[in-house]
Amino acid sequence: MKPKRIEHIGIAVSNLEEAIKYWEDVMGLECYNIEEVVDQKVKTAFFKVGEVKIELLEATSPESPIAGFLEKKGPGVHHIAFAVDNVDEALSVVEKAGVRLIDKTSRKGAEGLNIGFLHPKSTLGVLTELCGE
Ligand code: ZN
Repeated sequence: MKPKRIEHIGIAVSNLEEAIKYWEDVMGLECYNIEEVVDQKVKTAFFKVGEVKIELLEATSPESPIAGFLEKKGPGVHHIAFAVDNVDEALSVVEKAGVRLIDKTSRKGAEGLNIGFLHPKSTLGVLTELCGE
């Protein structure tokens, strides 16, 4: 498994509207997409910084994984997403290398991408997402 690039950095926020304002007004970036991912119970907002995207994540329900993260750690960097050619293939390669998976097979994430998460207990504390088309 060799990622092609960092696809995006996921950041947990408590208030999406306020966070968008910060990233637009202070960082000078433009929010080009706002999307709700229903099965993840999150609302996302995307910005581009060169090739890399910033994905802001707001919980839409108290059962959202983002709500749990905010409760434990507060707002901040949540995950790093790496682009790979084939998410299912990459997931099975890292699993064989002994990594615990959150997603055994890929599922649909924001922006129509296939995504799969690796467990942070197996990745030295970095919640890692693999994504691809
Ligand atoms: Zn992500």
